[in-house]
Amino acid sequence: MPQTTHLTAIVIGAGPAGLMAAEQLTHAGIEVDIFDAMPTAGRKLLRAGIGGLNLTHAEPKADFITRYGTKQAQIEAWLDAFDANNLRQWARELGVETFVGSSGRVFPNEKKAAPLLRAWLKRLKEKGARLHTRQRWVGWQEPGILLFEQGENVCCYRADVVIFALGGGSWAKLGSTGQWLTTFCDQGIHCVPFRASNSGFECVWSPDIKQGFAGTPLKSVALCVPTANGDVWRKKGDAVISNYGIEGSLVYAASAMIRDTLEQKNECVVHWDLLPDKTHDQILSLLKQARKGESVSNLLRKRLKLSPVKMALLKALTTKETMHDIGNLPRLLKQLPLSLTAIRPIDEAISTDGGIAFDELTKELMLNKMPGTFCAGEMLDWEAPTGGYLLTACFASGLISGQGAVAWLKQNAK
Ligand SMILES: Cc1cc2nc3c(=O)[nH]c(=O)nc-3n(C[C@H](O)[C@H](O)[C@H](O)COP(=O)(O)OP(=O)(O)OC[C@H]3O[C@@H](n4cnc5c(N)ncnc54)[C@H](O)[C@@H]3O)c2cc1C
Repeated sequence: MPQTTHLTAIVIGAGPAGLMAAEQLTHAGIEVDIFDAMPTAGRKLLRAGIGGLNLTHAEPKADFITRYGTKQAQIEAWLDAFDANNLRQWARELGVETFVGSSGRVFPNEKKAAPLLRAWLKRLKEKGARLHTRQRWVGWQEPGILLFEQGENVCCYRADVVIFALGGGSWAKLGSTGQWLTTFCDQGIHCVPFRASNSGFECVWSPDIKQGFAGTPLKSVALCVPTANGDVWRKKGDAVISNYGIEGSLVYAASAMIRDTLEQKNECVVHWDLLPDKTHDQILSLLKQARKGESVSNLLRKRLKLSPVKMALLKALTTKETMHDIGNLPRLLKQLPLSLTAIRPIDEAISTDGGIAFDELTKELMLNKMPGTFCAGEMLDWEAPTGGYLLTACFASGLISGQGAVAWLKQNAK
């Protein structure tokens, strides 16, 4: 085995959580070495910037915190230290101004992640942080000795303080392979198995939909999903028809509920409101204005302004007879059932649920079983919908763990 190099502070994982943790150490004047398996840092953050980096959300804190579901209490403590406003201010200090989009989502003015990441890495380097890439952490050689693979070579390091920020278990090609989960479990650390979060779902599409509409946005609809307590969750927004089923931000927002129902029942029937801005009676009165002999398709297209994709969906999910029953049509348009049969593979999901259980961690995010070892980001057991909630909690947990590591080093200074 190679000799063990002793460092002061090691951060493993150069994503948003790890870099934020490293920044706290540099603020305190502590030398920090950041290791990542990939050739460059922040690959997932950069990928998130394609199509618009949704950094955070501008809604009131009381609503914001509800997005973390059953983990609200834990994450509220992180957000008390670093919330959406702090995140925007932090980006501003890196020269990246942000704006609030129409839905309340917050983006950098340029919408991209690259300028932010570039400025951040530069600032970290100037403050003395050292980034070591292509170094894959593979486990502990013995307690406290970290084992890394660098190509054919193996290196051993120990440090006074270690922060893991290895990400979740999706989009493995960006670095977050989730392989760490078994390594942590082997150490007796309770980890909840990964499940896809913010995922697409499968259904049986007609050839018309598959061939004609795969990749088409389904704009201005409402999605209704049954909840575990018997209520119906409803949200307006946009989804996307894909060749396997449905995806897009509206679907992601409901994905935890749909996933949980699928796990219990192997099927989840959701309902689309194709005309969420019109009431049942408004639709009926428009339909009743039909001229004699006017076709239903014409009525839907001309009077109700139904887009081609909505028309196709209606045709695919109902029978010709039902569609021609004008009295029944408003109900169908407002409550079109779609049976979802499976969740897409975990690697395709935007994020994952599962990871290190909170009962293994102190409030500073230190592992109870490994004093001096902290964890942050998506590798912890929480989930949130898209909307900037994922990144906000990753940054905030990075800050908490980094500040915890600074305090630990000070307390345990020899
Ligand atoms: C397509 C896409 C779009 C997204 N868009 C948004 C968005 O707009 N807004 C939002 O809030 N969230 C978004 N997300 C989610 C967000 O990017 C993640 O939640 C966030 O990046 C997680 O941060 P992290 O630091 O915990 O982990 P990661 O960003 O995954 O970083 C983990 C790092 O650890 C490294 N690593 C892993 N294992 C090892 C190992 N064994 N040894 C060494 N290094 C290792 C990886 O290489 C990686 O660099 C998006 C995700 C995807 C996939």
